[in-house]
Amino acid sequence: MHNITLIPGDGIGYEVSLAAVRCIEAAGVNIQWDKVLAGQDALEKTGELLPKSVLDSIRKNKVALKGPITTPIGTGFRSVNVAIRQGLDLFACVRPAKSYSGVKSRFKDIDLVIVRENSEDLYSGIEFEEGKPETQNLIAQIQKDTHKIIRPDSGISIKPISKFASERIVRFAFQYALENKRKKVTCVHKANIMKFTDGLFLHSARQVAGEFAGKIIFEEAIVDNMTMQLVQKPHNYDVLVLPNLYGDIISDLCAGLVGGLGVAPGANIGTQMAVFEAVHGSAPKYKGKNKANPTAMILSGVLMLRYLKENTAADRLEKAVSQVIAEGKSVTYDLKPDPLDPSSVGTAQMADAIIDRLKKI
Ligand code: NAD
Repeated sequence: MHNITLIPGDGIGYEVSLAAVRCIEAAGVNIQWDKVLAGQDALEKTGELLPKSVLDSIRKNKVALKGPITTPIGTGFRSVNVAIRQGLDLFACVRPAKSYSGVKSRFKDIDLVIVRENSEDLYSGIEFEEGKPETQNLIAQIQKDTHKIIRPDSGISIKPISKFASERIVRFAFQYALENKRKKVTCVHKANIMKFTDGLFLHSARQVAGEFAGKIIFEEAIVDNMTMQLVQKPHNYDVLVLPNLYGDIISDLCAGLVGGLGVAPGANIGTQMAVFEAVHGSAPKYKGKNKANPTAMILSGVLMLRYLKENTAADRLEKAVSQVIAEGKSVTYDLKPDPLDPSSVGTAQMADAIIDRLKKI
């Protein structure tokens, strides 16, 4: 029996979370769900976007399954997703990008894993607003110390990258590669331009790579070149390890390589706990329409089962998902060759088909 925190999220979150919970239970794992609200619904009910009870529940249970949560752009609304990752120090974001037969995509047989640093970089939230006195002070100080000019009408975001967090994420990536019988880790960076941040990340990666010499191959790639290489020759890569911002961008690119956000799962992992969630967001336009593809959320559940060492259930559930997708009958609109195909099914019905298939595996 596992105690697991369930954060349904908002937008399409409720529908895809419910589908995932039903499939995970049908895979034969005994779970006591501790359901807690975060995001828009929590704000309406409790006046807080991220009530303390959410982080308390995850700290107690150590594992959570989380639906997507909306972050309106350009308002004071803080990202609940970033707050959860930072509040619990879930420093590693792991996003597999794997081809499933039956999913429309440019390439076949892709099996990449993106390991993104989750705790620092430009996502640290250290920002200086244009025109504010503290921004003017910072601009003046930088000019004094470096003789570099920043235009006075600038906003500034700070990009901290530490040796500690860089070594920690690269070691995690190598350890992951070793445990999952992977061959190669590629460190992605822009150290040629940002010598003191990306340079430190790369230097740390080279040092950690030495600990795994002879077991896992180590490669380096500059991020702009990497985007082109991935679009042209994705099969050349295995595990990628990246600072936060590049990791965010490259993981969506890789999701696109294997057929889009509807099939891209993810995990945020720390030393003590982990939160599993789809790469996609809350897709508000599909809210309550029973239209969203539940696959990414169900595959996030598969990652969660593996983390819980429920490997038999994880293998069965992944197999059921891949068979239903390969058959192409009981799948959501986005998995049909023609998205307007009237035979596409809803979120709940695709989950039903996966549960039916589990009975035969
Ligand atoms: P999104 O992923 O929500 O949606 C982009 C498009 O992708 C949708 O319009 C839809 O066409 C498609 N899509 C996404 N998920 C799908 C699914 N399961 N089935 C079928 N189609 C799907 O990205 P967005 O529109 O940029 O973001 C919407 C909100 O979600 C924003 O507030 C954003 O901040 C938030 N968000 C949250 C998370 C998270 O909770 N971890 C992640 C990303 C975005």
